[in-house]
Amino acid sequence: MYEPVIGLEIHAQLLTRSKMFCACPVVDLTEAAPNSAVCEVCSGMPGTLPVVNEKAVEYALRVALALECEINPASVFARKNYFYPDLPKGFQISQYEEPLARTGRLTFRLDGADRTVRIRRVHLEEDTGKTTHVPAAAVPDEGENLADSPIRPFAYSLIDLNRAGVPLLEIVTEPDLGSPEEVGACARALRRLLQYLDVNTGDMQKGVLRIEPNVSVRPAGRTELGTRTEVKNLNSFRALERAVAFEIERQTGVLEAGGTVVQETVGWDEAAQAAFPQRGKEEAHDYRYFPEPDLPPLILAPDFIERVSAGLPERPHDRFLRYMAEYGLGEYDADVLTADREVADYFEAVAAQLAHSPALRAGEGEVEGASDPKTAANWITGELFALMNQAEDKIATIRVRPEDLAALLGLLAAGTVNAASAQKALAEMYRTGRQAAEVVEALGLAQ
Ligand code: ADP
Ligand code: ZN
Ligand code: MG
Repeated sequence: MYEPVIGLEIHAQLLTRSKMFCACPVVDLTEAAPNSAVCEVCSGMPGTLPVVNEKAVEYALRVALALECEINPASVFARKNYFYPDLPKGFQISQYEEPLARTGRLTFRLDGADRTVRIRRVHLEEDTGKTTHVPAAAVPDEGENLADSPIRPFAYSLIDLNRAGVPLLEIVTEPDLGSPEEVGACARALRRLLQYLDVNTGDMQKGVLRIEPNVSVRPAGRTELGTRTEVKNLNSFRALERAVAFEIERQTGVLEAGGTVVQETVGWDEAAQAAFPQRGKEEAHDYRYFPEPDLPPLILAPDFIERVSAGLPERPHDRFLRYMAEYGLGEYDADVLTADREVADYFEAVAAQLAHSPALRAGEGEVEGASDPKTAANWITGELFALMNQAEDKIATIRVRPEDLAALLGLLAAGTVNAASAQKALAEMYRTGRQAAEVVEALGLAQ
């Protein structure tokens, strides 16, 4: 029997307006014209100097604090040297020996229980440009004689430096995860946290959040780690879980057949649902890291850390636990309501309204308990979400305000309307933005 061991490396673009070391705007790669947000600094012209983006440091710090890390009072930027056409400087500015933060943890939920993954480090770096290889077959004239060539399957490559220098946060976990499901739950929790902190949109399809699992297997009970592979190109949680499951199975097969696992980087082929070798594992010494001579150590003043810490929102997992404890919600409702911070705020505003108007409280109307927080939860995740899905709305822009929904639930609790009428009233309130009592009156819904 073999047991899987998995650690995650996460790269998250930070939602700053400008890039990490220059004033270029951060643009959407799918919308902006290629190379339209580029300057001398991010295109690597000789003689230019980087300047650290303070907002990026603040966002990174938010994440590090929310992950309960020890903050490094003086972190150091380093050059990670390698050549790639979309890296015109010939090095990436990253942090190496002295990262922004270390030794934290993230708690997440799986199968009704809390689990914790330890965080090894959190550091700041910059993204590279984006290369698009154009297959020879796609180029009619020139392509014809190249298409069959094993040496030149690509006619040419396109480089877009709009992404070069975009602030990137790297988060590395300890190898604490033991199954594809656990990896999925952990990754989802991390995305939710980044979204709550307003530092990343969580859009994996667009590549602004990239999660790379390192996977190994070892004989069950053994404490030594097995040889790992690192999986790249995962653009959904589903792909992440599938890829981890694939690698566990493949490596177990190799070991069972008496072979050895090769340490390498593999790519995930979504169409084939299989991983394929990409390159041999590079080691730190391959990169010839050295401290970036153009940037002084990043010193974080205690009052800056204090200010960022004071501004942190309640974390999603804490909120999830609180919704179960304080409002008596079940796992499912608490999870759905805290998936999105704005939905969670909305629910809480409805619940507060119910608690503050004694006449609306549970048990005081004819329908026992009809306006308690659980009922509010049901109406939000049921009727309201259905209306929002139909209209493709986000909760921040809907016309039914929390107090309007609370008022409707109050009428329901008082027995003024029954559930079917309340449903009709809500649809009308949703359409027109009118208040509950008004709609019930106008449509003659009172019983
Ligand atoms: P790098 O990939 O840059 O060499 P590390 O060696 O620090 O970086 O490891 C990266 C990730 O791989 C971390 O999340 C770590 O927990 C995980 N990891 C390291 N060794 C193993 C292993 N044998 N099996 C599974 N995961 C591992
Ligand atoms: Zn620039
Ligand atoms: Mg790695």
